[in-house]
Formats: sequence, C-alpha cells, structure tokens
Amino acid sequence: MSSNQAINNLMAGIINGEVEVVDLAQPLNESTPVIQLPEPFKNTGGFRYIQLSQYDDAGPAWYWNDFVAGEHCGTHFDAPNHWISGKEGDSVDSMPAKNMIGEACVIDISQQSAENPDYCLTVADIVAYEDKYGRIPDHSWVILYTGWGKYGQDPEKFFNIGEDGMPHTPGTTVEASIFLAQERNILGFGVETVGTDAGIAATFDPPFPNHFYMHQANRYGLAQLANVDQLPPRGSVIIATPLKITNGSGSPIRPIALVPKK
Ligand code: MN
Repeated sequence: MSSNQAINNLMAGIINGEVEVVDLAQPLNESTPVIQLPEPFKNTGGFRYIQLSQYDDAGPAWYWNDFVAGEHCGTHFDAPNHWISGKEGDSVDSMPAKNMIGEACVIDISQQSAENPDYCLTVADIVAYEDKYGRIPDHSWVILYTGWGKYGQDPEKFFNIGEDGMPHTPGTTVEASIFLAQERNILGFGVETVGTDAGIAATFDPPFPNHFYMHQANRYGLAQLANVDQLPPRGSVIIATPLKITNGSGSPIRPIALVPKK
C-alpha cells in the first residue's frame, strides 16, 4: 500500500474542518434563470424534468427522472469552442482533467457593482488586486466577486432589465479581458452572473469581449456561481468538472471550493 503526504494532509483537513468545502452551485430546476437572447437568436430551453417513476406503477420501488438541460444552464462551464474565436480550442470532453482544478483569485468589485450595475472590471482593478495579494499565478481561476450570487433565484434582480430593454449586470472591460487572456496564464474566468460578460456587452467592441478573448486563448468560463462571498482573495482551490459531452460547448456543473480555515 502506498501513501502520499499531500493527499493524506488534504483528506485530514477536509475531515477535521481545517479545509472547508464550499458549494459554488446554484440550485438547478425549472425556475433556474437562463440567458435570454434577443430575436433572431435561438435560446436555450433551460432545465426540465421528465419523471419516469416515483414508487408507482411505472417503477414500484424506485424514483428517477430524465432531464433536458441546456449546456449553458444554471451554474455552468463554458468551453473555448463555445465561441467562434475559440472554435479550434478545447471542448468539454477534450480539455485536460488537470485544468478542472486551480487556485481561486477572487477580485472583489461588489461595492462598485452595488453602486453601478454596469460596472466592468478594469486593468487598474487587476493591478490593485495584484499589488495587495501578489501576481495572479499560472493555472488559476480568476473569480469576479460582484455580489450578484445573492440574486441567483430572483430573475428580476438577476437580469436587472432596464428601461432600454437590456440587462444591466457587471462584467469586464475589453482591456481587462485582453489583459487576463494574454498577459496572465490563467485557466479561466468565473462570475456570479448569467454569463462571463457584462449585461450590456453586446454593445462593446468586440461584442462580449470576455468570451471573445478568453476563449480565443483557450481559457474557460464559469457562470452563475454561488457562495463566492465565502472565498478568500487567495488560497482556496476550485474544482469545476463539466460533463464529458462529446464535442460539448459547456455543461451544467456543481463546482466546489476547498477553503482553508484558521
Ligand atoms: Mn455559458
């Protein structure tokens, strides 16, 4: 029998509570908010149960369901091939399993987002974060803490549709998207909102710059995260495992974070 100290220490920490396991998923059901694209674009149908049996004639001793779900539905993973700029990049099944695990670098723009729902992360915000907490390391997840996770079950606040008919939710500037995709060697970018770009990012140049530049650089996205407020700025580890859908562009996930406790 072999024994590895790193694994032993991790498991001891999880069992004794020195390492807390935080659930980063929102509940997934027929009320889960899904993105609404304008005409003429096709929309995802979200999540639907199809019950097979519940201890009844169709299955007297068992309960089970089929489900229909969009790849980009609820708390979910964006693969690079989701975007035209990343179409030669990884799909959820081809990505290396190692890339599903990385340290979380959590950048807090919750104050700015509360004051201005259209607030977008700037390069200056990233530089200020690095001045305080150190350079964003290779193979890490950058997580944008906006406070939007608390609206995850309230579609009106979650989408925050304005009088202009557009969603008003925080995201990233074009420059910050380019900086993270090209100047830092990260796994990807995670958010609490419905997608990894700001609500009004259809009006940016290019449109949806975080999708465009991240996926172009073969980086991943995490959307509709919950409990981001429980993550420290540095030092926790996120495990985000999409379903192995052949040539899939994304997948609902239940990401977890390993958070050190003093
Ligand atoms: Mn998506």
